[in-house]
Amino acid sequence: MKFSDTVKLLGKPLALGKTQAARVKRLADILTEDVDHADEFHAALGGDTVLTKYASGSRPIGSDFASAIVGGEYGTYYPDGLIDKIGQLPDQVRRALADQVRSSVPFASADNIGDVLASQLTETLVAVLDDPVLKDATAQTQRESSQKAIRQRALPLLLQQAGSLCPMPGCSQTLFAIDDAGGQKVTGAVAIIDPQGDSGDLRNLIVLCSNCGEKFTGTNPAIIADLSGAKRQLEERQEANARLIPTGLESQIRRVVAAVAAVQPDDQPSAENWNAYEVRRKITTARMLVTKVEGYVAVYFNYIESATKDLNQEGNLKFERIRRAFGTQYESLADSDQTQEQIFDSMVEWLISLTAGERTTCEALVSYFIQICEVFRADT
Ligand SMILES: [Zn+2]
Repeated sequence: MKFSDTVKLLGKPLALGKTQAARVKRLADILTEDVDHADEFHAALGGDTVLTKYASGSRPIGSDFASAIVGGEYGTYYPDGLIDKIGQLPDQVRRALADQVRSSVPFASADNIGDVLASQLTETLVAVLDDPVLKDATAQTQRESSQKAIRQRALPLLLQQAGSLCPMPGCSQTLFAIDDAGGQKVTGAVAIIDPQGDSGDLRNLIVLCSNCGEKFTGTNPAIIADLSGAKRQLEERQEANARLIPTGLESQIRRVVAAVAAVQPDDQPSAENWNAYEVRRKITTARMLVTKVEGYVAVYFNYIESATKDLNQEGNLKFERIRRAFGTQYESLADSDQTQEQIFDSMVEWLISLTAGERTTCEALVSYFIQICEVFRADT
C-alpha cells in the first residue's frame, strides 16, 4: 500500500486535517510518541510543498522522511498510537475501512483493521529506509505492536473466562468498576503468564486486576506457576460452564447442523481420518485466524460436541454425515490457491448460504471442525 493511499484512507475518519500537508504531519504525530520539538520534527519530514506531494502520491516518500518518523530523534516510533485511534472509531467506520483494503489484505476485518493498517504503514516506511539496523528495529516494534493488538482483541474472551474477579491467588479485586454514569467499565488488563512462552497464545494470557497487573513482572517462577495453576482452573470452569446449554445457541446449532445433514447424501465414502493436531499446527500462515479459531474453540467446543452427540443419539441425523460434509467442502477448497483466511471465510460463507445460520454460529462450527480435523491439515 502506498503512503498516499494510507493518507487518503485515514484522512477523513481520523480527521487528520484540512490540507494535505497538515494530514501528513498529523499522521506522523500519531505514529510518534512523546514528540519533542514538533516544529523541528515537521521540518525534518519536509516542507509543505513536499508533504503535499507525498500525500497526493505525485512524489514517493524517501529514507529521510521515514527515518524522521521511526528513527527516534524526535520521539519514539509508536504504531500502537495508530492502532488505538483506529480502534476507537465506530464499528461501521472500521468495517468500511476494512472493505476498502480487503482486495490487498483478504483477512482485514473491523476487528483487526487498526493492526492491519499500522502493519502496512510500517512496511511502507521500512521499505524506503537506507539503514539496515533501523529497518530491523522498526519491523520488530511493529511485531510487538501486533502481538499487543492480538492480546487486546482477546480481552473479551479472557474476561468471559475469568468471570468478574482477579484470578491472582490471594487477590479478589473485581475486574470491573462502575463509572459515574452507572455503566460497567473494565479495569482489568491482559497479562502474559510466562514471558518465555508465546505472547499471542490465549492459553498463555490471563486478565489481572490493575493492581496485580502492575506488580506482576513475569520474573518470579513461583508466581508464574501460581498463575498457570489459576489459568488451568479458569479453563476447567469454562469447560464446565460450556456444558450448561444456552437456549438460543442450542437451537441455532441444532438447526445449522441439521441443515447440513439434510443436504449431505448418505452414500458418500467416509472422510479420511486425519490425526488430531493443535489448531496452531494446522493454521501456520495466519496468526490472527489462530487467535479467532482458538477463541471459538475455547468457548464453544464442549458445547458443540455435546450438542452434536446428543443429536446423533436421538437418531435424527448421523454426525458422521456432517463430518463428511465439512471434509468434502474443505477438500474442494484446499487445492485452490486460497490462503487459510480465505478458506476459513469461504467455509463460513458456504455454511451460511447452506443453512441460513447466524455468522457467529457458523464461525463457531467451522472452528470446531478445524479442531476435530476435517478442515486444514497439519504439516507433519
Ligand atoms: Zn488482583
